[in-house]
Order: sequence, then C-alpha cells, then structure tokens
Amino acid sequence: MPAPLNAVVTGSTSGIGLGIATAFAETGMNVMLNGFGDADEIEAVHAGLEEKHGVTVRYNGADMTKPAEIRALMKDAESAFGQVDILVNNAGIQHVVKIEEFPDEKFDAIIAINLVSAFHTTKAVMAGMKSRGYGRIINIASAHGLVASPFKSAYVAAKHGIVGMTKTVALEGAEFGVTANAICPGYVKTPLVEKQIPATAKERGISEEEVINNVMLGSQPTKKFVEVAEIGALACFLCTEGAASITGTALPIDGGWVAH
Ligand code: NAD
Repeated sequence: MPAPLNAVVTGSTSGIGLGIATAFAETGMNVMLNGFGDADEIEAVHAGLEEKHGVTVRYNGADMTKPAEIRALMKDAESAFGQVDILVNNAGIQHVVKIEEFPDEKFDAIIAINLVSAFHTTKAVMAGMKSRGYGRIINIASAHGLVASPFKSAYVAAKHGIVGMTKTVALEGAEFGVTANAICPGYVKTPLVEKQIPATAKERGISEEEVINNVMLGSQPTKKFVEVAEIGALACFLCTEGAASITGTALPIDGGWVAH
C-alpha cells in the first residue's frame, strides 16, 4: 500500500478549510489543522476525523499574521508526518467598507493573512516537494482574484496577488512534479460570508435580504451558494495524478459568476 499523503490546510477550523481537511481525511490523507476557535470544538473535530477515517490529524494554532509561528507550524507538520506533500493556503478574513474609511490595520491584516502567509508556508515546503518529485500547492483565492467588487479593496488586492503568486510557484515547480493552482470560489455560506451581509447592506444602503438575493446570488447565474463539499472535491482532484498537468491556473468554482 502506498504511504498516505500528508497535508497542511491553513484556516481549517471553519468553513472551506474544514471542508477541504474533511475531504482529504476521507481520501486517507493525514492532515495538519490550523486556525482559531474554541479549543473543545477543535479537539472534537480533530478526534472525529481520526476516528472516522483512521488517519493522523494534528492541530497547530499558528497565527497567520506571524511569520515565526507560520514557520513553526510547517516544522510541526514535518515532524508529525515526516514530510508535507500537499499545502492548502486557505486562511482568510474579509472587511467590507469604502476605501476612504478602510482602517489601515485591517488592510494590513487582510494582506498578511490572505496573501503573505502563503509566501511563508510555500517557502517552507517547496524544496522538499521538489526533491521528492511530487507536491501540490492549492491556494484558496476567490472570484475576487479575477474580478472586483466595491468596498473590498484589501481582499481584492490580496486575492489578485495570490493568483499571481500561484503562477510563479507553478513555473518554479513545473519540472519537479510540483503543481500550484488557485481555486476561485464564488459565494459560499460560511461565517466569513455571514459576517459581510450586514456590512454590505450598510455600505450599499439596501436590506440584508437584498444583499443575499441581489448582490451575492445576483452574481451567480446558478442562484445558489457554492457548497464547501464542492471545493473539497476539487481540491482532492488536484492532488491526483490525473491533475498532474493542471498547474498555474485560477479555477473558478462560482456558479458562472466570472462568465458574465
Ligand atoms: P471562515 O471564516 O469560515 O474560515 C476562516 C478560517 O481562517 C478559520 O479557520 C479561521 O480561524 C482562520 N483564520 C482567520 N484568521 C486567521 C489567522 N490570523 N491565523 C490563522 N487562521 C486564521 O471563512 P471561509 O469562508 O471558509 O474562508 C476560507 C477561505 O476561502 C478564505 O481565504 C476566503 O477568502 C476564501 N473564500 C471564501 C469565500 C466564501 O464565500 N466564503 C469565497 C471565496 C473565497
């Protein structure tokens, strides 16, 4: 039996990251969880995945704004599993307000968590992946890595940035069996999106219901939120040999949003 693959998923205590970590565990991968949250809830997720799927799951609560903690997380994963084969840069936050009122520290935090942290994690794994001839780097960008919306200056800047970095990493890994791709989801109903409904209503001067129906689902021709499990399934496929030639891409999974 081939050795199981070992994955690090940043921001995997909630939403999309948790969905990807769950999908990975279901396919037999060992997973390093990361992110904030209630310690008992995180422990329950951790133990549940191990018990249900017979894989090794670890947790490290590194703060993605802190490079030293990020490096320690990656070392922790290497000591736990021996090597890191798959890296998913998923941790992210959002803030919705017009640029003239955008708090400096929020802008910096969004760039740090949604973009710069992926530089530090990728830097830590690239040499090992290249030397072993297999690696998968999956960056959770967004439809906002391809198009913009008002009141999301930091987020759109970070997501366009990570789409660019994905292409460079893909070029550097191409001859070594290391692929790098950005997944670009549309709206997925996670805590990150729930929080921006009232903020978007305020900025646009419309009701929360109008935000959901006209702004969010209005962007998506399917008129449906994207499901976390759909993103997990795509991430799993990108880890297979069948996806070996898919690299440097920004893959929308957005109900048709960027086809407009
Ligand atoms: P979420 O709020 O449910 O989860 C975010 C995760 O990141 C959590 O585990 C949280 O603890 C973690 N996190 C936040 N700050 C952190 C920090 N400083 N250090 C470590 N971990 C931190 O959000 P989500 O919707 O699942 O978002 C996950 C990713 O998907 C983000 O990068 C987001 O931009 C992207 N995305 C989300 C949507 C959507 O509609 N929900 C759409 C496109 C892209």
